[in-house]
Amino acid sequence: MITYEKTIKHTRILNPMKRFQEEKLTFEYRTDSLTRRNTTVIKEMMSYMKRYLTSDEVWLNGLAERTRANCPFCPERVKEKTPMFTPDFLKEGRIYVDEATVIPNLLGHAERSILVVLSKEHYLKLNDFIPKLIFNGFKGGLVYLKRLGEIEPEICFPTFVFNYLPPAGSSVFHPHMQVLARDRPFYLTTLLLEKSKAYLENCRSNYWSDLISKERDGTRYLFENNGVQWLVPFAPLRGINEVQAIVEGKSNLLELSSEHWLGLAEGLSKILQFYHGEGYASFNAILVSGPMNKHLDYFDVNLKVISRPGIQSHCFTDAWALPYLLWDGEAIEEPEILAEKIRKFTRQTS
Ligand SMILES: [Zn+2]
Repeated sequence: MITYEKTIKHTRILNPMKRFQEEKLTFEYRTDSLTRRNTTVIKEMMSYMKRYLTSDEVWLNGLAERTRANCPFCPERVKEKTPMFTPDFLKEGRIYVDEATVIPNLLGHAERSILVVLSKEHYLKLNDFIPKLIFNGFKGGLVYLKRLGEIEPEICFPTFVFNYLPPAGSSVFHPHMQVLARDRPFYLTTLLLEKSKAYLENCRSNYWSDLISKERDGTRYLFENNGVQWLVPFAPLRGINEVQAIVEGKSNLLELSSEHWLGLAEGLSKILQFYHGEGYASFNAILVSGPMNKHLDYFDVNLKVISRPGIQSHCFTDAWALPYLLWDGEAIEEPEILAEKIRKFTRQTS
């Protein structure tokens, strides 16, 4: 059974912005219901931090223009400047799905690491990430994974990763996605798999199904799309506009139907449009899978997406010591308030 734990703490200061009147600050410690990791929800932090999260349009457009000149992913250079698969893996060298181009990574983050160039456009605002563009990227990644499974079935842990724009860690401006595949899971996947297995053993049910049942129609629930459930986590991992999706009853990416992939693409596009409306330009997302060679009753494929700081001369980053080195979570806004904002946005746009 899923339980939510929350402890509220206060401190008092004399605030110089309010003629040194006494002010009470609130800190809410929330425990993640699966991993037991703490996230501190700091009320009012969003209003303090928002100025660093939006972009200077002139600065952003200037950077887009400057990086276009030598971009290896732009259509006029992609065939000359990007790596190809070796003929034993794929005799055509690259995979094409409509606008999406799948290529090996020049220097990746895993023993099998590929890039999916998502668009012919060099720069996309977040509301330009239409479902078809994301869907074709997913399809390209899936074609690669199926070929990988034929040749190296032991490399069975894939993760889809989006790092969009420099604040999200991308060295290339042009919209792209990565697929990282290894013979061993990333640490977060290991943690989720182990904790989900223990939950099944202790509670005799699937954690992810229980999570959806508990959250459905509640204050953090967003919407359902083609068997994919979207919600804001009770205790976000990174905490800036973090949204989670769960593909019900599917434990690895090869089990997903075309409808599921479309559900993921449409839902992600909707969240990115919300981010755009709030003034954000950059994001990270991960799509986490169990092993591709078996079905697990205790794990569901899931996605997380967060917005990242804006592009401006100030060079602000939200990869500060607390989440980066101390491994604790921090949310700069109550998850329930974020969920209400997204629900309002989706009601207006549907
Ligand atoms: Zn480009």
